[in-house]
Amino acid sequence: MRYAREAIQKMSAYVPGEQPDTREYLKLNTNENPFPPSLRVCEALRGSLLSEAIVRYPPPLCDALRNTVSQVYSVPPEWIAVGNGSDELLNLVFRVILNPGDKVAYPVPTYSLYRTLAQIQEAEPVEIPFPEDFTLPERFLNTSSYLKVVCNPNSPTGTVVSQDILVRLLESADCPVLIDEAYADFAPYNALPLLFRYPHLLVARTLSKSFSFAGLRVGLLFAQPELLSGILKIKDSYNVNNLSQIAAIAALGDLDAMQCNVQAIRATRDRFSRAMEERGFYVYPSQANFVLVRKEGRSLASLYESLKKEKIMVRYFPSLPDCLRISIGLDRDMDRLIDTIDTLLDQDGRKNVQAFHLGSG
Ligand SMILES: *Cc1c(COP(=O)(O)O)cnc(C)c1O
Repeated sequence: MRYAREAIQKMSAYVPGEQPDTREYLKLNTNENPFPPSLRVCEALRGSLLSEAIVRYPPPLCDALRNTVSQVYSVPPEWIAVGNGSDELLNLVFRVILNPGDKVAYPVPTYSLYRTLAQIQEAEPVEIPFPEDFTLPERFLNTSSYLKVVCNPNSPTGTVVSQDILVRLLESADCPVLIDEAYADFAPYNALPLLFRYPHLLVARTLSKSFSFAGLRVGLLFAQPELLSGILKIKDSYNVNNLSQIAAIAALGDLDAMQCNVQAIRATRDRFSRAMEERGFYVYPSQANFVLVRKEGRSLASLYESLKKEKIMVRYFPSLPDCLRISIGLDRDMDRLIDTIDTLLDQDGRKNVQAFHLGSG
């Protein structure tokens, strides 16, 4: 008896960041926002509990939310799809566009979900390393495929590709181009204005990071109607629940609250980056709410483990063993992290154990 397609049996599951109890851990591993969402979100949710929101199915196309998004981002409602988080929308894009065997290209290191989505689809991932300066690789611009994906700002590096290079990509691409802008609100520019010029452009956004919505699951996908129609055709009818739709409308009605939190996070990020540089780490230039720090040639696995013992969670990727990705929390969170790192490095120096300087360096 067959329980799963061969491709599903062979692939490994996407590994999300751990979700430990936040009463016990300082959680700096999945780029959540340390601030609560706008007060209006909580008010809207409280009101909605007394209404029909629980009993009735939600509007399939999120009409009211779509109209709000349309006004906020100056994009026609017909150009907007709403998802149960942007992960759902990325999934739909891969399913709509890729046949088994089709190539999907993206620069790496990047969001590892893209590989998982390609594998589910039995598509062929074409992973092309970023150059040192984190512009787009020439080979990525020149390669022929059925879908190109750029995470911008990129995770886990936080680096951004300039508008000029994105335009070069769009001018040269022979296929749809998906820009994953999960962190766009932390960055100086975004690709939404390019939508009007390029009918093969898809832009994915999430409310998870900048709007403090990770638990509510709301993502947005922008594209011209012809490109969007396949996604709307196959998505679950009721993919975004009523409470999330109501909450998202409230959040988008209070952009000031989001922008105020983003400003604070950016300031903390820059201060934290300098502190890490002073401790001999290379800090990738980040335009997101996290930083990737590196000790070239040295495994940071044991630092990651030691921090975990001290109840601080950061993200360690086995594929980037000399790096840690650290989400930006409150000022006091980052101070605690820096103090803990100092203590660990200090102990390491005194005891001359291999705790920190493991690896090849
Ligand atoms: C967080 C993240 C997402 C997923 O966002 P959700 O809306 O929470 O599903 C997508 N892409 C990147 C690069 C992310 O970091």
